Amino acid sequence: MGYPLQTFEELKLDESATPLLAEFTDAIGEEYVLSKDEDKVPYLTDWGKRFKGNALAVLRPKNTSEVAALIKICKHHRVPIVPQGGNTGLCGGATPDASGRAVVICLRRLNQIKALDLENATITVGAGAVLKHVQEAAVLKNRLFPLSLAAEGSCTIGGNLATNAGGVQVLRYGNMRDLTLGLEVVTANGEIWNGLRGLRKDNTGYSLKDLFIGSEGTLGIITAATLKVFPLPRTKLTVLVKVTDVASSIALLQQVQKVCSADLTAFELISNRAIELVSDRFVLAQQLLQDQSDWLVLIELSSMDSEDKVRLDLQNLLMDAMDSKLVLDGIVADSIQQSKAMWGIRETIPEAQLQLGNVIKHDISLPISELSDFIQTTNARLKESWPDIEIIVFGHVGDGNLHYNIVGINLEVSTLLENRRSQINQLVHDQVYLHNGSFSAEHGIGQAKVTELTERKSSVEMALMRAIKKGLDPLCIMNPNKVILRDPD
Ligand SMILES: Cc1cc2nc3c(=O)[nH]c(=O)nc-3n(C[C@H](O)[C@H](O)[C@H](O)COP(=O)(O)OP(=O)(O)OC[C@H]3O[C@@H](n4cnc5c(N)ncnc54)[C@H](O)[C@@H]3O)c2cc1C
Repeated sequence: MGYPLQTFEELKLDESATPLLAEFTDAIGEEYVLSKDEDKVPYLTDWGKRFKGNALAVLRPKNTSEVAALIKICKHHRVPIVPQGGNTGLCGGATPDASGRAVVICLRRLNQIKALDLENATITVGAGAVLKHVQEAAVLKNRLFPLSLAAEGSCTIGGNLATNAGGVQVLRYGNMRDLTLGLEVVTANGEIWNGLRGLRKDNTGYSLKDLFIGSEGTLGIITAATLKVFPLPRTKLTVLVKVTDVASSIALLQQVQKVCSADLTAFELISNRAIELVSDRFVLAQQLLQDQSDWLVLIELSSMDSEDKVRLDLQNLLMDAMDSKLVLDGIVADSIQQSKAMWGIRETIPEAQLQLGNVIKHDISLPISELSDFIQTTNARLKESWPDIEIIVFGHVGDGNLHYNIVGINLEVSTLLENRRSQINQLVHDQVYLHNGSFSAEHGIGQAKVTELTERKSSVEMALMRAIKKGLDPLCIMNPNKVILRDPD
């Protein structure tokens, strides 16, 4: 069941677009109202090129007041709004539908680093700030903003918040929700809520910021955030090891956690097939493929101890793991370049996959204890039903998060894969649920998984979510049909 709101007719613009565009122009200036097709194009397709939409205009406000003015105009005319940051989302949340009735509000001009409070260990930034720039601003003051993911050169803090992004350091520092102390939001009413508090304790009623984090632009527009920063670690060590199988990687995770405890910042599982995808770009990847092992683990330790101590502890740990046959072989990076190459291999995989044509992606999470069984069972069932597919697995296994992706054995099969998408999704997600997992770990719902959300969540959960949506966005102008389906027109 969808979300009961106005019918399509009621929401339809009853005037031609020209006066509306003039109102937008008055609010933010002509230069920032993009209504020509060629100007709008880059904002109308998602990163993975799976979703294409259309929009009346792309609006590029420069500050919170301009965002508020735009939302008021949209509310008055009942124009749907699609918020957009870096447009790197993987579920089509930032792509408008094909009707051409929505506006995209692009937040990238709200990119200021507003304050870095060293004593309070917080950084306050505009929602359009690019994640990498926020990391760099923190490093300039000898601090770490730990959110890190392969799209960090383009994605924005607003998008990270709206999708509750995870990435490679969740194990130690948590996801975006855990890193956030305060938000500034423009509501669907066009009102500005300044909740930019830098408080670690604040039990004054409902946690409003937590409603907006992970809401994928469906409840309001995030315009700024106050985030936690941490001391920069003194030592960083990156290691690539070959493990016997997935179960060995889980046993290794436990050993590393026992010996290195909080120093463990990343623990990424990568299948050989994923390494193959990037072997033409990294010499190291070619070397890794030469030995017999289907699985690798990329480990990162960040410590306040000296490099000598961390290296020695790690070498001892790896020797023990080799003695007990968990680890077959390993390389500890001995330079920043080598560490970068190791991370380069991991972070290039999502982009390299795009060359394979159709990829059916699953961003799933499971209890860590279920991962090995899940992979074995699901791989076997998929291959039994469709022998002409391949399974590419990589992910943040330290958080129980796998990217479990299906491609054809060749481009021809990949092209035909679209016909099997729903059956493959069903099989994989049924297995996820049998193993007590979630079908969306860190990428969100967007438009890609909106139907499945309705099918998989309990009716109580869906009713609570609809009540929140209805309470905060009664006209359903905020990113309609993302996360929660509107009733058919
Ligand atoms: C190569 C690659 C690797 C990735 N790796 C990871 C990973 O490891 N972990 C992970 O979690 N994600 C990952 N992602 C997904 C993506 O980068 C994240 O979801 C990111 O947080 C999106 O940020 P963005 O600014 O690009 O948001 P967009 O794509 O622009 O938008 C995403 C959603 O947020 C909404 N939104 C954007 N800005 C605002 C705002 N200011 N207020 C309200 N709503 C807003 C949009 O409407 C949309 O629903 C990866 C993507 C790529 C391409």
